[in-house]
Amino acid sequence: MTGSPTRPDVAEFDRAELEAWLERHGTPAFHARQIFSWMYRRGVTDFGAMTDLARPLRAMLAAELACSTPRLADRERSTDGTEKFLLALADGRQIESVFIPDSPANTLCLSTQVGCAMQCAFCLTGRMGLTRHLTAGEIAGQVRVLAGSLDLPPDRFNIVLMGMGEPLHNYDQTMKALRILADPHGLHVSPRRVTLSTVGIVPGLDRLAAEPWMPNLAVSLHATTDEVRARLVPTSRKHPIAEVIDACRRFPLRRRSRITFEYVLLDGVNDTAEDARRLVRLLAGIRAKVNLIPLNEAAGIPFARPSDAGINAFAAILADHGLTVSVRKSRGRDIRAACGQLIVEGLGRSPAQRAADAM
Ligand code: SAH
Repeated sequence: MTGSPTRPDVAEFDRAELEAWLERHGTPAFHARQIFSWMYRRGVTDFGAMTDLARPLRAMLAAELACSTPRLADRERSTDGTEKFLLALADGRQIESVFIPDSPANTLCLSTQVGCAMQCAFCLTGRMGLTRHLTAGEIAGQVRVLAGSLDLPPDRFNIVLMGMGEPLHNYDQTMKALRILADPHGLHVSPRRVTLSTVGIVPGLDRLAAEPWMPNLAVSLHATTDEVRARLVPTSRKHPIAEVIDACRRFPLRRRSRITFEYVLLDGVNDTAEDARRLVRLLAGIRAKVNLIPLNEAAGIPFARPSDAGINAFAAILADHGLTVSVRKSRGRDIRAACGQLIVEGLGRSPAQRAADAM
């Protein structure tokens, strides 16, 4: 049997789509459960090896469907156990994903785009610009590669969408990837184990608010005035702080769950006592917790990390006003796997190159 020239990629199918495809090919829909289990629970993508399917079905699948997986191109391990994975996609583009071991749970940090369009002033990924969105299969595929390489048992890890890219800027593919990862016949990841981190694109937040499958939400606030926020997070010019906060107020939360507000601390820029007090006022009445992220410094990033005393003083003001505060540990800094340090060297396009591309 010869396959069609452009075979559909099963890695891009959610289970309902795979069921529909099987039925169109004269095959009972329930085989989709077995295929999902092989792909996501056992890491098997070779249809020939799916031994609980009849041989003719295996042959038909192999002839008619592709199953692509990001290729592990490099893997680096930090002294703290964090591992950074460089993955090559079918078109040769590269992304990074990070494994952060911890107890009680390990965390996988996934990318949603090659590069990022948000251009936050303190983030290296922003320097790359946006090369392209990832597909749902490429987002979910990162979990297959990492879980397989690390031999992680299914549904025993947390997922954070905090790698390269802005998940709400690639909304449909990101939500489809989460649906694939949540499938009970696949990895069966619970929404409580997934955190989506966003700059706060308001229409995206409102769409997310209506999703049946609702991940935890983290909003990168980073400033308490629109002037400072516009400097740090340029895309926030479209959505002033008050609009983002209003969208968070309308956001439905499960019992006992809270919105995390991420706040990068930059020495002398957004870390004054006045900032801390304004942050308390902004978050009044929201079920919030604050995650302070002391800047991970890097060459070319024109900001500095405050002193530990400064970080503690800022945290103390929030805590004194009843906010739950945590200070994010910087993991994997020695291998540039920490927040804001993911960048694929060489493939990023400089502004001059992008201008040339556009001509
Ligand atoms: N696009 C998403 C995910 C970004 S990465 C978002 O904006 O939320 C996760 C967090 O790391 C964000 O809060 C981001 O602003 C922050 N971050 C980026 N660069 C950083 C750096 N150099 N040091 C510390 N945190 C950084």
